[in-house]
Amino acid sequence: MSDLESTQDPRRAYDLDRAHVFHSWSAQAGLDPMVITKAEGPHIWDADGNRLLDFTSQLVYTNLGHQHPRIVAAIQEQAASLCTVAPGYVNGARSEAARLIASHTPGDLDHVFFTNGGADANEHAIRMARLHTGKHKVLSTYRSYHGGTQLAVNVTGDPRRWPSDNGSSGTVHFFGPFLYRSPFHSTTEAQECERALAHLEQVITLEGPGTIAAVVLESIPGTAGIMIPPPGYLTGVRELCDRFGIMLIADEVMSGFGRSGRWFAIEHDGVTPDLLTFAKGVNSGYVPLGGVAISDAIYETFAHRAYPGGLTYSGHPLACAAAVATIRTMEDDAVVENAARLGSDVIGPALRELSEQHDWIGEVRGTGCFWALELVADRDTREPLAPYGGSSPQMAAVLKACREEGLLPFANYNRIHVVPPLNIGDDEAREGIAKLGVALARARAA
Ligand code: PLP
Repeated sequence: MSDLESTQDPRRAYDLDRAHVFHSWSAQAGLDPMVITKAEGPHIWDADGNRLLDFTSQLVYTNLGHQHPRIVAAIQEQAASLCTVAPGYVNGARSEAARLIASHTPGDLDHVFFTNGGADANEHAIRMARLHTGKHKVLSTYRSYHGGTQLAVNVTGDPRRWPSDNGSSGTVHFFGPFLYRSPFHSTTEAQECERALAHLEQVITLEGPGTIAAVVLESIPGTAGIMIPPPGYLTGVRELCDRFGIMLIADEVMSGFGRSGRWFAIEHDGVTPDLLTFAKGVNSGYVPLGGVAISDAIYETFAHRAYPGGLTYSGHPLACAAAVATIRTMEDDAVVENAARLGSDVIGPALRELSEQHDWIGEVRGTGCFWALELVADRDTREPLAPYGGSSPQMAAVLKACREEGLLPFANYNRIHVVPPLNIGDDEAREGIAKLGVALARARAA
């Protein structure tokens, strides 16, 4: 009997989970997590043998779907030869992963500092920006998520920050553009762009440019709502950062590695940040990996001065082997191009058609395999179907109906995110959206 054979019993796994596993972001009492017994491509199976279409890519990271044979083989091959080696040594998988990442990051972001995930990538990017500039303050947007560790959660702009904000991180929040719920009362994208940039310039001026190390933003905010910035916004932020000597940190943890139909979402505006953070899609999340891609100028700061930071598992060989296989597969199979095509030809049109049939859909927005449905109780007032930071019986009914229809949806407050793997088949994408439509109709009629 293998060491893992006893773990295959779903009932036992569930009972042990409830007895000993402490789940994130949840009250522990009353939790009823789903047991996943098998997964393949865009599908997962629960303990009762039900097959569900995974429209979540888990937490938006299985960009190549589940159990991709090339990634599994790379992990197995690396495990058979060398499971682990500390960050200070050279490892072939790590070197190759860094080369591949640097070959796709924009501009001169050619140096990679590896982390275990997205939050620690943002923490390190901020530390690098602070040491490089000699300044401390960090500006970040409301309606953003940058991770669950202390500084990353302080920088976060959405309600997940509230219980843990210690108010002393040197973070100042500002409004990013969001036309549907415009904080600037704009009526056009161009107006929203102009006003959001004028607002940021004011915040910088009033906070004191000489105190601000970095502006941190998600190139396309993900869990906070997939708000596509108007064309020119990121270019304008870049110009403000240049004018005031501020580092621009692009958080591409969710939007990177093809999710938006480009290797990195910031490319939609043709911008090169000073630091770019990544995780999730870099290796489809098969083994935890994240990192910071660093510009030449910031790299130079640490050429003759030790960088004071590191992580035991930084650039873990198993994770890097998965990254090598993931990125090569993305190149060989034109996965990024496929994500762009899925967005413009399949997912976008199907979701827009859905919005014509369901009056709960207030807005459809997205690009590539990165879409959100903003659900509203009233299209005219745009009253959200669940409050900001909360849930509602209607949203719970939609999610329950999705599961019953065989669809695993990604939901946040009043939104459903459609974020399938980037290599999902056209028919599977349409099938999932049709299931979503049935679920919306059932919840609406209830
Ligand atoms: N940044 C963004 C944009 C994210 O979406 C996330 C996670 O969802 C993070 C950072 C945090 O990444 P991790 O959970 O790997 O620490």
